[in-house]
Amino acid sequence: MSELSIGDRVGDVLASLPEGVLLVGAAKMRSPEEARAAIEAGLPAIGHNYVQQAETMRQSLSEWEARWENPVRWHLIGHLQRNKVKKAVALFDMIETMDSVSLAHTVDRHCADIRKVMSVLIEINSGRESSKTGVAPGETLNLAREISQMEHLRLQGLMTMGPRFGDPEDSRPYFRVTKGLFDSLSSADLGGGEMRYLSMGMSNSYRIAIEEGANIVRIGTTLFGERRA
Ligand SMILES: *Cc1c(COP(=O)(O)O)cnc(C)c1O
Repeated sequence: MSELSIGDRVGDVLASLPEGVLLVGAAKMRSPEEARAAIEAGLPAIGHNYVQQAETMRQSLSEWEARWENPVRWHLIGHLQRNKVKKAVALFDMIETMDSVSLAHTVDRHCADIRKVMSVLIEINSGRESSKTGVAPGETLNLAREISQMEHLRLQGLMTMGPRFGDPEDSRPYFRVTKGLFDSLSSADLGGGEMRYLSMGMSNSYRIAIEEGANIVRIGTTLFGERRA
């Protein structure tokens, strides 16, 4: 695998995805040059866990990005801290990790300041792990209704990480729980919200996630190689 370039790997993964599945390149700890190589090979979206890393990367790619023909989509895929909301709403096209009413209000307010409507996914703590971010499955409908009433947020779906396993088959039940929520919210009256995107699956689990209904996959290692410490 190490002889393949980033561009080759992006091409291989893109070719393997069913139609309608959006590939997000998880770019934490990667250099702007690595991200650019991936984008030039057709990667449509970049995901960042940290606002600061995204800002640094976007700044160094900004001149190139302005000339690039296909606009790249920037997704926040890590937990959003209150003191980073202002920067985050300026940088990202989608926040995949919305997990509380109060955070939603804060994002809504900052989006109002810059007259932007932010696409958001609700992050589900599908493993009900106390160490993890995301809402408990039982609280999802309430949060979805609240977000749907906020003028500067557009609810577009759900995201989950699930517990990490060596055997990706073990992730399947958590993907299934999240898809079940996605389906029940799809038929609920959410006002303005809609269930369009289901973001599940990483390098070792994305094939299973797609079998369970994912249409966004967030992939790092398979595209960029092992993360350096
Ligand atoms: C790092 C990360 C990924 C990708 O993980 P890989 O195993 O490197 O593919 C996906 N989602 C989130 C939220 C991540 O932090």
